[in-house]
Parts: sequence; structure tokens; C-alpha cells
Amino acid sequence: MTGRTKIGFIGLGIMGKPMASHLLRGGHTLFLHSRSGVPGELLTQGGQACSSPAEVAQNADLIITMLPDTGDVERVLFGDKGVAEGLSAGRSKGGIVMDMSTISPVETRKFAAEINELGCEYVDAPVSGGDIGARNGTLTIMVGATSSAFVQVKPVLEFMGKTITLIGPTGTGQVCKLANQIIAALTIEAVGEGLLFASKAGADVRKVRQALMGGFAYSRVLEVHGERMIERAFEPGFRVELHRKDLGLALSHARTLGVSLPGTATVQELLNACIAHGGAGWDSSALVRMLEKLANHEIETIEGSHDES
Ligand code: NAD
Repeated sequence: MTGRTKIGFIGLGIMGKPMASHLLRGGHTLFLHSRSGVPGELLTQGGQACSSPAEVAQNADLIITMLPDTGDVERVLFGDKGVAEGLSAGRSKGGIVMDMSTISPVETRKFAAEINELGCEYVDAPVSGGDIGARNGTLTIMVGATSSAFVQVKPVLEFMGKTITLIGPTGTGQVCKLANQIIAALTIEAVGEGLLFASKAGADVRKVRQALMGGFAYSRVLEVHGERMIERAFEPGFRVELHRKDLGLALSHARTLGVSLPGTATVQELLNACIAHGGAGWDSSALVRMLEKLANHEIETIEGSHDES
């Protein structure tokens, strides 16, 4: 899919909106739909609003979904006026449905089989890099697809991401993304524990973070989420309820595989506690707040201290 492509984009939230904007800037024709409405900026850029996923599918050769959860993808693909209805209406034989949401790998394989029955390819291409990566077009994209479908979608993905890897057949993109979420969640928890400990012990947490950024404990999570914890910046970003969803997908898949994930289960409980405290919409770095409750101590900054990183 090189040159100008007719692309459908369904789900224009924190991630979908900037991703669609990059595709418009790249000269593609976009057919747009989102339950929350199509953002005015995308229409100004030349995007065309559609009233249903079926209408999107009737117009586009490649249909991208960027939706919250497995049930949302299922509704958009196979529900009333869904993508499958639009594909069956005719012109899209040989088209591609590409889901970029983070959803169940098991359901992904079922969705792929149903889309394949309609004569179309299915690609799972979940992303990492957050809202910042979406805005900068620097997402990491983990792809499950046939090699021929991958070759077709790669030039489109290059407008949205920097590191694009074909992991294997359909469903393996989602498996890779869940591994990413396990690692990210446990790292957020580790950064929270480290900073909380340092604060309770009387150290200047801005200086602690700055020092650790140059050492073995450096991570992007220490950089971004560590700063959020210190500066109390818990606007999402990546919502607690979405991270809990991803760990739930990982834990239930792991159970079927007979794999024990004790760290993941612990962080899942901290995210559950956030939700019990009204934090479904907080950024997932706010799980430090639950560690703070356990310690009966809130991370403090020292007056006049500055982060020089
Ligand atoms: P979001 O809630 O901001 O956006 C989702 C969009 O989907 C909304 O605009 C909503 O209106 C739309 N939508 C939901 N149900 C719909 C339906 N039935 N029909 C049409 N539109 C519908 O979520 P987000 O943060 O953009 O995340 C989207 C996906 O990307 C999730 O699976 C999430 O786990 C994943 N993700 C998010 C981030 C992040 O940092 N936010 C990072 C990586 C991956």
C-alpha cells in the first residue's frame, strides 16, 4: 500500500486522533468514525466523517481500529452496522482490517478467522510509546500478520511509528504487547517503591531520580513516570483502567498456559485499589498513591530543589 491509500480509522481518542492526523499529513484519504465524534482538527485536515463502521469499511481499502477493549473491537467489527457488514456489501475483497488496540490475543485469532472468511486479511498491530509516541509518530508497533499483509501495511505504519516488528502470525502482536505491559507495570511499581523509600528516608527525590537516570536503574519509566510521581502529574497519559485491562488479559492468558505471574498479580491489585479510590481515569503512574497509603507516607519534594536532568 504505497502512495495515496483509502484508509478507514475507527476510534479517535487519546491515541487514535494523533495517529490519524499523521496519516492525513502523509497524503492519505481518511474515512473516520468514533463514538465520541470525529475531532474538528481531523476534518479541517481533510478527513471525512462516516456515520458507522460499516460506512467506513465500504469506502476504505485498509480499516484501522484503535478502541479501548476486546468487546469494543468485537462490536465495531461484527455488531450492527459494523465493519463486517460494510465488507460484505461488496467492494472490499482483498482489503485489510488492522486492529491497533490492545486486546485479547485469543479473541484476536477468532476475529481474524471471521474477517478472512469475508476475503480480507486481518492484522493485529498494537502499539507502545503512549500518547507522546502517538503525537510524535514514534510508536513501537508489534505486528501479527502474514508476511504478505505485513509488506502491505508497513508503509502506512511508518507514518505512525519508528520501530515496527513483524512478530509472527495473527495474535502474536497482541502477545508481544501484553509482555510489554507486564514489564512496564512492574517497572512503574519498582520506580514507585524506590522513590517512596528515598522520600521517607529523607532524601531529595528529584536528586535521587536525576542520579539514577545515569545508572543501571535507568529506564524510560523512571524518566517519564518517575517525574509524574514526583511532580504529582497524574492526568493521563495511559489510564489506570486500561493498564488494569491489559494485566487482566495477561493474567487470564497466563492461567490457560499454566504460567504463574506473581509480580503482575500484585500490580493488578494495586491498580484495583486505585479504582476503588476513584482513580480509573488517573495515569497508571498514580499506582504510587496506593504504595503511599501502605507506607502512610506521601512522596515529598524539598523546597527549592530542581530537576537538572
Ligand atoms: P480512548 O478511550 O482515549 O479512545 C478510544 C476511542 O474509541 C474513543 O474516542 C471512543 O469514543 C472510541 N470508541 C469506543 N467504543 C467505540 C465504538 N463502539 N464505536 C466507535 N468508537 C468507539 O483510549 P486510548 O487511550 O486512545 O487507547 C486506545 C487503545 O490503545 C487501548 O486498547 C489502549 O490499551 C491502547 N493504548 C493506549 C495507550 C495510551 O497511552 N493511551 C498506549 C498504548 C496503547
